[in-house]
Amino acid sequence: MDYEIIDKPPVDEFAVRPNLDNYVAQRAAFNYPDVIKELDGLPGGGLNIAYEAIDRHLVHGRADKLCWIWEGKDGRVENYTYADASRMSNQFANVLVKLGVAKGDRVFCFMDRVPELYAAVFGTLKAGCVTGPLFSAFGPDAAGDRMADAGARVLVTTPDQRAKLTAMRPNLPALQHVIMVEHGKEPALEAGELSWNALIKDASEVFEIVRTEPEDPAVMHYTSGTTGKSKGAVHVHQAVLGHYATGKYVLDFHEDDIYWCTADPGWVTGTSYGMFAPHTNGMTSVIYEGGFSANKWYETIQKYKVTVWYTAPTAIRLLMKAGDEVPRKYDLSTLRYIMSVGEPLNPEAVVWSNRVLGLPFHDNWWQTETGSIMIANYPWMPIRPGSMGRPMLGIEPGIIDDDGNLKPPGEEGDLAVRPGWPSMFRTYWHNDDMYQSKFRNGWYITGDRGRMDADGYFWFVGRADDVINTAGHLVGPFEVESAMLEHPAVAEAGVIGKPDPVAMEIVKAFVTLKDGYEPSDKLRGELMQFARKKLGPGVAPREIDFLMVLPKTRSGKIMRRLLKARELGLPEGDTSTLEE
Ligand code: AMP
Repeated sequence: MDYEIIDKPPVDEFAVRPNLDNYVAQRAAFNYPDVIKELDGLPGGGLNIAYEAIDRHLVHGRADKLCWIWEGKDGRVENYTYADASRMSNQFANVLVKLGVAKGDRVFCFMDRVPELYAAVFGTLKAGCVTGPLFSAFGPDAAGDRMADAGARVLVTTPDQRAKLTAMRPNLPALQHVIMVEHGKEPALEAGELSWNALIKDASEVFEIVRTEPEDPAVMHYTSGTTGKSKGAVHVHQAVLGHYATGKYVLDFHEDDIYWCTADPGWVTGTSYGMFAPHTNGMTSVIYEGGFSANKWYETIQKYKVTVWYTAPTAIRLLMKAGDEVPRKYDLSTLRYIMSVGEPLNPEAVVWSNRVLGLPFHDNWWQTETGSIMIANYPWMPIRPGSMGRPMLGIEPGIIDDDGNLKPPGEEGDLAVRPGWPSMFRTYWHNDDMYQSKFRNGWYITGDRGRMDADGYFWFVGRADDVINTAGHLVGPFEVESAMLEHPAVAEAGVIGKPDPVAMEIVKAFVTLKDGYEPSDKLRGELMQFARKKLGPGVAPREIDFLMVLPKTRSGKIMRRLLKARELGLPEGDTSTLEE
């Protein structure tokens, strides 16, 4: 079904004039390296994301401006100014220096969205270290594999993660310091743990940021591929140019905005757009510690008078499911601009929000590796529901064929981007071969398939690989299969994404059993539990089927494509490599 284009008024009629008000002219004039002129650079030389996001605002008259409005799960509300954010991150940077942590060392966080998480990330950057925030719902295998790969030296975490930590600790020989946080409380410590509060109490509020250069590593986010464990995409301080510019032109930040990004910093959206883009633009950001609830989310918008809102399709579909009456109970009139990322945004969702919230969701596309938004719908731009939009200033995406040649408009191909933008990942940690394999004929290959229409709008078609997108989070089938194989009953496992009306896909596993084990509901339940415990609820399979054999190639590789086709009753395609 074709959806009607959602038109926009001329830019002169906007109550808040978009920063991007002449796409063609601004795109022609834009040059990413020039963005540095709108930032400060470290006093004395160098570039540091934390300085651009926090400290420079103290020099520019924003010391008393609200930086974070934090609401805890229990309803506590706390306000932090830019001066507070600067002081808190300075203190944590001093803590790291005192612990002997050196420039370039990896400092991981594994915790919910409490203020200390934000102070830790910015403090880590100030100390010249590399920050690695992990999603707090990860199980010990998922979190432990990532930290082991990164050689994390410091972990900031909370007591409720202790059981997981105990399980992963033997695999973390590089981990020297575990810092325990319990927001608003003094946690009871166990042997070998340090207290956040005690360390901070002794730390100076003044810190001279360790000089970092534009190409020094700053942030690591792990992302899933088809083969092997997840890979650490490494971003450098220069990425801040991308955070700032996309914040200005795509998120359309203006001085008085109250901004809410619902993503968790365990995923790249939660750092690039939950921390770096808003704060390099001097925004006031709402941080809600709790999870999804339709009423609570609308109430949050009402309570804090949110103007710019950035969320994800699974949440939007849940809001739709909750019904049109729920938003009518709240005053959402402050909202002026709403966006979505992470998965395909179905056109119905755009039409729905336009009808019910009075604003269409603006879809945009990017990924962990790109570090910032590449393709977007902008405030001024008519929306073609279902399209991801048009290229960000300074970004050249293309739809290419197997030889790296551009395909004509309308044809499907690999979605690729011309390398060279500042927030592009610089490597996969300790896996440069994998990084190099992502380039073809001068293009970075994103792993997505898409097409571009004659007017330059990009449309998402699907993933080119077996990676699963569940509720906006990528899950590598290999990671799940490996965990399943650790159960004594499981002989082989094949994992696919099964379409789902809310989460887009759910993780589904097919397993064969070892001799002596019989399929049963009890065993299925036990396997589910086992996987949840190891990987966490967002990664573990939601469905498990028992099979007698798994389809495999003659070289012994499980044919996930075939498992999926059979599950969905689709044609099996080319089965010439199938083992008889
Ligand atoms: P991640 O690296 O975890 O942020 O996931 C990035 C992947 O999510 C992309 O490569 C796409 O497969 C998917 N994705 C992100 N944004 C969109 C979007 N607007 N439309 C369709 N897929 C998206």
